[in-house]
Amino acid sequence: MRILKIQTLRGPNYWSIRRHKLIVMRLDLETLAETPSNEIPGFYEGLVEALPSLEGHYCSPGCHGGFLMRVREGTMMGHIVEHVALELQELAGMHVGFGRTRETATPGIYQVVIEYLNEEAGRYAGRAAVRLCQSIVDRGRYPKAELEQDIQDLKDLWRDASLGPSTEAIVKEAEKRGIPWMQLSARFLIQLGYGVNHKRMQATMTDKTGILGVELACDKEATKRILAASGVPVPRGTVINFLDDLEEAIEYVGGYPIVIKPLDGNHGRGITIDIRSWEEAEAAYEAARQVSRSIIVERYYVGRDHRVLVVDGKVVAVAERVPAHVIGNGRSTIAELIEEINQDPNRGDGHDKVLTKIELDRTSYQLLERAGFTLNSVPPKGTICYLRATANLSTGGTAVDKTDEIHPENVWLAQRVVKIIGLDIAGLDIVTTDISRPLRELDGVIVEVNAAPGFRMHVAPSQGIPRNVAGAVMDMLFPNEQSGRIPILSVTGTNGKTTTTRLLAHIYKQTGKVVGYTTTDGTYIGDYLVESGDNTGPQSAHVILQDPTVEVAVLETARGGILRSGLGFESANVGVVLNVAADHLGIGDIDTIDQLANLKSVVAESVYPDGYAVLNADDRRVAAMAEKTKANIAYFTMNPDSELVRKHIQKGGVAAVYENGYLSIVKGDWTHRIERAEQIPLTMGGRAPFMIANALAASLAAFVQNVSIEQIRAGLRTFRASVSQTPGRMNLFNLGNYHALVDYAHNPASYEAVGAFVRNWTSGQRIGVVGGPGDRRDEDFVTLGKLAAEIFDYIIVKEDDDTRGRPRGSASELITKGITQVKPDARYESILDETQAINKGLDMAPANGLVVILPESVSRAIKLIKLRGLVKEEIQQQ
Ligand code: ATP
Ligand code: ATP
Ligand code: MG
Ligand code: MG
Repeated sequence: MRILKIQTLRGPNYWSIRRHKLIVMRLDLETLAETPSNEIPGFYEGLVEALPSLEGHYCSPGCHGGFLMRVREGTMMGHIVEHVALELQELAGMHVGFGRTRETATPGIYQVVIEYLNEEAGRYAGRAAVRLCQSIVDRGRYPKAELEQDIQDLKDLWRDASLGPSTEAIVKEAEKRGIPWMQLSARFLIQLGYGVNHKRMQATMTDKTGILGVELACDKEATKRILAASGVPVPRGTVINFLDDLEEAIEYVGGYPIVIKPLDGNHGRGITIDIRSWEEAEAAYEAARQVSRSIIVERYYVGRDHRVLVVDGKVVAVAERVPAHVIGNGRSTIAELIEEINQDPNRGDGHDKVLTKIELDRTSYQLLERAGFTLNSVPPKGTICYLRATANLSTGGTAVDKTDEIHPENVWLAQRVVKIIGLDIAGLDIVTTDISRPLRELDGVIVEVNAAPGFRMHVAPSQGIPRNVAGAVMDMLFPNEQSGRIPILSVTGTNGKTTTTRLLAHIYKQTGKVVGYTTTDGTYIGDYLVESGDNTGPQSAHVILQDPTVEVAVLETARGGILRSGLGFESANVGVVLNVAADHLGIGDIDTIDQLANLKSVVAESVYPDGYAVLNADDRRVAAMAEKTKANIAYFTMNPDSELVRKHIQKGGVAAVYENGYLSIVKGDWTHRIERAEQIPLTMGGRAPFMIANALAASLAAFVQNVSIEQIRAGLRTFRASVSQTPGRMNLFNLGNYHALVDYAHNPASYEAVGAFVRNWTSGQRIGVVGGPGDRRDEDFVTLGKLAAEIFDYIIVKEDDDTRGRPRGSASELITKGITQVKPDARYESILDETQAINKGLDMAPANGLVVILPESVSRAIKLIKLRGLVKEEIQQQ
């Protein structure tokens, strides 16, 4: 077996609209292509021995053990690899359930699709599954040690990629509210929402969190001073820079017990509390010095440690934090008890999990000593032995929810404190003996205010009710159930995507909104080019969706991107499907036009249920997509008598129809005429029917988004397909006594489209300079030849510079074959070099004739035309 390719899908895709995270492996079964599992001696037994848990896979028999039954009876190796890859992830703690296996048109080559939670783990699992199966085929077994290593590696990948408990809580809440989110490429920034409506977070800081508040909170001494000045109870203390000042400082705070901590520390690092002697104080000073130059000396306040979380001015959760400790059972030593606690799967390293493993430090031994224990002591049953002085979760502490217990006065105080410091999200550390009574009464203090407080003690307390604190954050960032989205209009089809995308963006601009759009020529925001290149995949979509200025996204969505990585967004408000015609067949395992239709239908199917799929009623495969989408349907048609559209309108639907020379929106009993085709430059005076169809699609997509008829009309009238705006799309040049047309048409449907215009050219002879990209199928070239024979009076057959792997001369031979098949007496010649071919065409141009150039390089063709002297680009004059 050999893996030929692994692709990672991250959005709605060919295999599933709902499952966005899929790995697609192209697998060559090689010698196993003809051998089902039952014919491989010992395979079933070896597989069951290696992965007994496969018993749990139902598969097609639909019952426990169903999959293994299939293995015993005989199934192909691709299918087994799929199940093994899923099971490996499952064993590493990642719950995935979706898989598909299909043989491609090439016998023995399979596509194996598996779900993943983490991309890298998914790819790893795919490769490991192939390794495992191959090993069982070759040797009857897969070594246990290797399997264990695989699972460990998968676990590591999963852990390394995890977001951390606070961020995890936030994105989960976003998902629950239908707010899209993505990870940005640096600083662990998370974007919630799209375009102009997006918000950013980094851990629990938001883009609203003020820098002054954060800096103040990080400076514990300044915080205390500001709070003390407002009458807030804070620890009595001072800051020193030299050991010499320590004695005086201790006196100043009123003598022992004291606390010593670094001025700008966190996570309890370098802190010693409850210091009762000069020796301890000196040691504590040194420990704090490791973390910070300046040292805080404070009075020690007896009490429990509380964390009060304030979001958007309101207390949303309160937790009591209990320092790391073990409870004696009368049998085990303290060391054993620690060992046992650290086995808890909820405890991880650092902030990975809801709790952190207990590690001992200097103060641990001090505490044990004070209690009269060593690590080897066996404490009596029920005795609590504290192992850390401070209660930070990151030093092994636990948390108990106290949200319902806090006294209203303390709520008031906490909220006021956070306002004073100036933070939108803050965690207050309060030391008091009883949080249900006012601080004032108990000599409680606010020890510090934390910016970017962790959420894990609130969302997953060791005891008490978990609090949805991320919900409070979302309420703040996205009040009134805002979704954070911007309208997304996605355009697909075999031909006309770029033109329609540009036109739609242009129409939308009439509303005054900032439109971001992506096309095969580049990515644009408003009137400016962001990046040139073929930008029709998910990455370019992200450029637009991440942009803080974009109010509307119009995305050309091409087949290649959907196939390679899925859509770059979860759902669109409008999905336009222009047409489905033979092109690119045989590439990427899309071999038939119906498969191509299924692929393009992803755009229609991933429209929000309250959005619109804008479908071509005249293309039967596109019209049929109406059955597959949950969205509303809007049809466009060139045929005013379309039965499908008539019925649709009767049922209350909306449509765009070309009728009596007008582009019109039809809804209910009303026909709203937008504009006469003749008045729309793009349609070349109404002579290019396919452009009318594109204009109908764009108008309808805008209309269902509530763009007014007037604005649509203004857009249609002012959009010019000039060379600068749409190079290579019906660029017509006036060369004095003849015209030249440059167009990108390169598949049968677009030849036909251009042909419809050329046939309307009746003033003189029509010369075609034709060819096509070398990676298309043989029969496609023959078809191109046939079409050319029907469209042109004289044909010059040329080839692309880049033959895409095809022997030079082969494409032109096939085109010639097509030409002579339909018109044995056709006038034609072959000039393989594109430049020479174009020049020949222009040289022989007859008076009032039209030279149609369908080039590989549009810019070169235009240059050659311009070399002919005074050229007027004569496009779509009204
Ligand atoms: P974090 O940022 O993780 O909350 P930190 O390193 O910033 O911790 P502090 O919050 O200042 O440190 O102190 C840690 C803990 O030590 C407090 O939550 C409290 O339990 C205890 N503590 C600190 N100062 C005092 C004090 N003056 N009296 C009593 N306990 C104190
Ligand atoms: P690509 O897949 O190369 O990005 P595209 O779908 O973006 O193509 P456009 O660039 O808009 O398409 O148009 C390319 C050519 O396709 C046009 O110049 C024209 O020849 C033809 N074409 C455009 N619209 C249609 C249509 N609605 N039907 C058939 N052919 C069309
Ligand atoms: Mg603290
Ligand atoms: Mg395009």
